[in-house]
Amino acid sequence: MDSDSSAADPFENESSVEIVPDSDESTESTPDSQNDKRSSRSRERQRYEWKREAQKKARNFGQTYVTSKGKVLAEKKFSANFECKCRKKCANNIQEALRKTLFKNFWDMGSFQTQNAYLCGLVQQTLPSNRRPRNSSRPPKQKINHYRFQVEGNSVIVCKKFFLNTLQISDGRLTRALNKVMLGKPAGSDDRGRRAPKNKTSVEQMNELLNHINSFPSYQSHYTRAHNPNRRYLAENLNLRTMYNLYLEHCLQENLRPVKEATYRRTFNNSFNLHFHKPSKDTCSKCDSWKVKLEASQNEQERATIKQQHELHLRKAEAARESLKRDKLKAQQEEGFYAFTFDLEKALPFPVISTSLAYYKRNMYVYNLGCHEMETDLGYMYVWNETIASRGSQEIGSCISKHLQTRASTCKHVVAYSDVCTGQNRNIKIVLFFMQLVSSEANEIDVIDHKFMVSGHSFLPNDSDYGSVETYARNKTIYVPEDWCNIITQCRRHKPFHLTKMFRKDFHSVELLEKAITRRTKNEDNQPVNWLKIQRIRVVKEKPYMVLYKETLSEDFPFAYINLKPKKGGRPSLLSNIPTTDLYSETRPVTAAKKGHVGPSSTAPNTNDTTPLMDIEEEEGTEH
Ligand SMILES: [Zn+2]
Ligand SMILES: [Zn+2]
Repeated sequence: MDSDSSAADPFENESSVEIVPDSDESTESTPDSQNDKRSSRSRERQRYEWKREAQKKARNFGQTYVTSKGKVLAEKKFSANFECKCRKKCANNIQEALRKTLFKNFWDMGSFQTQNAYLCGLVQQTLPSNRRPRNSSRPPKQKINHYRFQVEGNSVIVCKKFFLNTLQISDGRLTRALNKVMLGKPAGSDDRGRRAPKNKTSVEQMNELLNHINSFPSYQSHYTRAHNPNRRYLAENLNLRTMYNLYLEHCLQENLRPVKEATYRRTFNNSFNLHFHKPSKDTCSKCDSWKVKLEASQNEQERATIKQQHELHLRKAEAARESLKRDKLKAQQEEGFYAFTFDLEKALPFPVISTSLAYYKRNMYVYNLGCHEMETDLGYMYVWNETIASRGSQEIGSCISKHLQTRASTCKHVVAYSDVCTGQNRNIKIVLFFMQLVSSEANEIDVIDHKFMVSGHSFLPNDSDYGSVETYARNKTIYVPEDWCNIITQCRRHKPFHLTKMFRKDFHSVELLEKAITRRTKNEDNQPVNWLKIQRIRVVKEKPYMVLYKETLSEDFPFAYINLKPKKGGRPSLLSNIPTTDLYSETRPVTAAKKGHVGPSSTAPNTNDTTPLMDIEEEEGTEH
């Protein structure tokens, strides 16, 4: 039996091209964009959407289909009234109607494997009983095939021609299916496209590649953590081309054979969930989600509700901006009225150096809390780095206190604006810092208002201040925190920023105040307090221990009151008599991972508080 005729069979002809090498059925999944827990950066395969899958299916069912090369292949048609002209008189043994059923049943299986298993079951192979000597040009016959069909419980022997013609398959397909059984493989197994390609990346090469990608420090983002916990971010100065070039450099040094850039990219996309750009916090997640919901919804009632909610949200944002505008005007006209906005800039990395070694190092960060004074349009920046302090609400509260003590100590009424970042800005600690300020005799502040902008729609003047800093820093080499300080002071010629370096002693804790008060979850009207809805907070000198708040910025609504007076009886101590303590008693330890990367250890107690910004500075500075 020869299998040369296989070329005539369209089913076999392109099989090696048609099937994907690693067609693993388990990768099929339905898209789930709602909660993105992907572990790799690339989208999962949506096999059911593939054109090729549809082609394959049509082919297995014997239907007409178009090959990947555009060739149209006709559907399998039953060949009626076939005459094999053999001695067995096959057509007499199997009626035409039965033949048709056999044909139909075969193609209705719709699976290449099942069909082949079926074929193998119908063909019996035996050794020849007596070997006829042949001339030397042909080898002796190895085996004889017996073809049969199962008809109503009986097996009917037919000739090969009749067998192939009834099922409309090629000699080649049958031969290959039978040969697999001869080799001990399961009947109907499908090897097409499953061989490892000759140029497959070796395990060693792949490990080297994975290690290289892993050697870059990556970070989790504060903004995407909730809905996409596996996503991590690489430093912003990296991109895939740079990474590949660094990889080539690495291979050259280590005398390794590098993979092609396409392989590097594919591995990066498929095996990692790494991204380059930090997501902007300026887009409003609420607006985004309403937009998606609106597009998906067909229900008129629902659509109207969504539109209404969105409208209200936008009006709120607009009202906040209007309020800021009014307070700016008021600050310029009224003596004793001080308005400012504050915001924490995104962390500023250092070192930023253009040598390849720097890419593998974990960055350290400089923090900058900006206070923008509305009356003068001046920016005041309070700067420290992560070896000095973290960036929690008490750090922020300390900066604001310092700012108000220096800039607003002679004002009666202070208005602060900020984004709602509940962790940092809208919480009890910031309120306690404000309470401390109004109760203090060291300044004249009687009232502090804190108004919250709608996140993503705030357009705080701080944003444009930070824009100046970040634009000026582009393409600059930054070794140490001091370099960021220079950038901040130099980046604006008109109205330059005022820079204040924050030292450890500048950060205070309101721990004792927190212990002195009683946090109540209900207001004075016995209504539950929802901090997430609060739009405005006010503390007043004459009303110690009392937090005034509104869920709107409108002046027309009255304040609600939260009483923080301690539960225990007797006269509560004067707030101004409760001291703040140092937030950090010792030097902030640097995490082990970072220690290995940047400078010498800074865990030794900081004996010299006047050291500018950080301990490692001088040593780093002399190196370069
Ligand atoms: Zn026949
Ligand atoms: Zn919005």
